[in-house]
Amino acid sequence: MAIKAVRGVRDILPSETGKWQRVEAAARRTFEAYGYREIRLPLFERTELFARGIGDETDIVKKEMYTFEDRGGDSITLRPEATAGLLRAYIEHGFQVEPKPVRLYTAGPMFRYERPQAGRYRQFHQANVEALGEPQPAVDAEVIAMLMDFFRELGLVERLALHVNSIGDTADRAAYIARLLEYLRPHAAVLCGECQARLERNPLRVLDCKVPDCQPVIEKAPSILDSLSPEAAKHFERVREYLDALGQAYTVTPRLVRGLDYYVRTTFEVLTTELGAQNAVAGGGRYDGLIERLGGPADPGVGFAIGLERVVLLLEDHDAASRPFVLLIPLGEAALRRLLPVTRAARQAGVAVELGYGGRKLPRELERANKLGVAYAVIAGDNEIVSGEAVLRAMGSGEQRRVPFAALAAELVGLARKDGAP
Ligand code: AMP
Repeated sequence: MAIKAVRGVRDILPSETGKWQRVEAAARRTFEAYGYREIRLPLFERTELFARGIGDETDIVKKEMYTFEDRGGDSITLRPEATAGLLRAYIEHGFQVEPKPVRLYTAGPMFRYERPQAGRYRQFHQANVEALGEPQPAVDAEVIAMLMDFFRELGLVERLALHVNSIGDTADRAAYIARLLEYLRPHAAVLCGECQARLERNPLRVLDCKVPDCQPVIEKAPSILDSLSPEAAKHFERVREYLDALGQAYTVTPRLVRGLDYYVRTTFEVLTTELGAQNAVAGGGRYDGLIERLGGPADPGVGFAIGLERVVLLLEDHDAASRPFVLLIPLGEAALRRLLPVTRAARQAGVAVELGYGGRKLPRELERANKLGVAYAVIAGDNEIVSGEAVLRAMGSGEQRRVPFAALAAELVGLARKDGAP
């Protein structure tokens, strides 16, 4: 029996890679315009980095990590997110001496042992951005505006909603959790089983629950915005003012708490209504204190992660992968030899050329030209070798004309340029 891919892990097929390349190019263009530099990180790290960096009590660390012992006896984990590894590199390579903020981005696969469903996988991809060393709220606003510019570049911004919130500083959050528990405990009986467990473990996560029965209770919960210290409240007010100044629309959503423990103050999420339960396309926030917790300097940080599978799901199908522009059809050995250098010259000039290898009859090759969707076919047999001219056929109209072999490569390059084709 043939071996299949692991559950929750998928191949990205050639029919989809055109969209992926478009998304990756948009990310690179947007981030670099804002002064971010790319960093490439390992896919696995010491397990303790994630335990310390993400938080022992989070779902990710408790239930979702791919952890194993390597042959040397070290505990290794496939990265479930990028921030911890990126901060490890920031500390290890002494980035803190660079002018602040240090702006870095990275992209690649993440691994989480979650229940697979549409838009949720066990290996998935993120683009991640972090601005490090700058406490000012203007950076939060700039990072959020950049995220929305990435979606704008892809033509998706109208179909997405930006939600922002502040979860305060650590002490604010502790005070809020006490208030929240006081409110939730009397309602515990009507909450779903999962939320009843969350009450003890991580009560903030109740606010995130999607179960309909829990909604009436969640809607009346106290707002975390009422628990903010004056400093945290001021910070959030500034973030909103700068977003307004940048012309960036947003909704303040006090129930937005996010799943990772390390956030303080600003949190944000970009949501869609088009992907069912997996409605979060990107999320992020501020994480002052995390670099220090990982053994580094007391540098603050703010950043986000974009779920690339979900972005690709939102893109229309028409931007599929590129197709060849022309099919060269040699009929016979002599014609094959005459067309080989033409093929090479056109390809060296960047034109996507497909070649028949001489073994098939003309009708079969023209059928292939139609299936490939090429704009032109070039046909050459023994007669054409004698006359010194190949037949150039426009596949759309069926119109044909003759082009000398010596001019053929240049002619194809010219046509491809005019067409804007590869
Ligand atoms: P998080 O690191 O949990 O804040 O996730 C950031 C973004 O990554 C989310 O908004 C999703 O778009 C995406 N994401 C998280 N988990 C998965 C997953 N298992 N499969 C696909 N995308 C995911």
